[in-house]
Amino acid sequence: MAAHRRPILAANWKMNHGPTAASAFLASFLARYARREDRTVILFPSALAFAAARSAVAERPDVLLGVQNIYSAEKGAFTGENSAAIALDAGAGYVLVGHSERRHVFGETDAQSAEKVKLAAAHGLVPVLCVGEKIEEREAGQTDAVCVRQLRAAFAGLPVETLRDAIVAYEPVWAIGTGRTATPQDASAAHQAIRAELRALAGDAGAAIPILYGGSVNAGNAATLLSAPGVDGLLVGGASLEADSWLAICTAEA
Ligand code: PEP
Repeated sequence: MAAHRRPILAANWKMNHGPTAASAFLASFLARYARREDRTVILFPSALAFAAARSAVAERPDVLLGVQNIYSAEKGAFTGENSAAIALDAGAGYVLVGHSERRHVFGETDAQSAEKVKLAAAHGLVPVLCVGEKIEEREAGQTDAVCVRQLRAAFAGLPVETLRDAIVAYEPVWAIGTGRTATPQDASAAHQAIRAELRALAGDAGAAIPILYGGSVNAGNAATLLSAPGVDGLLVGGASLEADSWLAICTAEA
């Protein structure tokens, strides 16, 4: 991690931790995590645990909240979905867009990611755009091309003022939930390609957009990954579910 950047530690709880578990997790985590000026902590609880998480962090403005998804339309007859406006009203500041599970389990397209980024920005939510290659794409040497395609699809044509506030997460699909982590060198190489494209899309603003690494991060490898050049933070799934390991990740020193 470059010395001037303040790392972002983001927890994606996916479809885990209902309201009761979210409250218990946060009681345990917050009792031991003291506010730090040198990092940003963001939690992405499930939609139904969001209110419980919000209430648990009410006295902790240093612990921020986001939603795992929004729908790619402003409002209307979309049973079961949540909009950017609803997420904002519920207290979210961030939204995950293009997570590999949305892309590969639910079949979401680059075009839907683009729509979600636009809606998020229009409503004042920070989009955390996830990009990353599948194993066969990596083996075919297409890692950079896939990331660049996903970035362009979601960001091209957006005003610099919008892009300035975005966050990108490099999450190789083969590393998510598999226990197989990218090496710091692999992460740095992909982050460098992503950074080059962000500069191409947004000029100087593109140089400042945080790029997180995600994919089987745990308490044991967090510090090493945070130290990798170009890594501005971590997006963590499985290891963010236990307060002890999440605490260790949030206090890891690059
Ligand atoms: C994720 O879902 O964003 C993720 C990185 O998961 P895990 O840490 O479990 O690989």
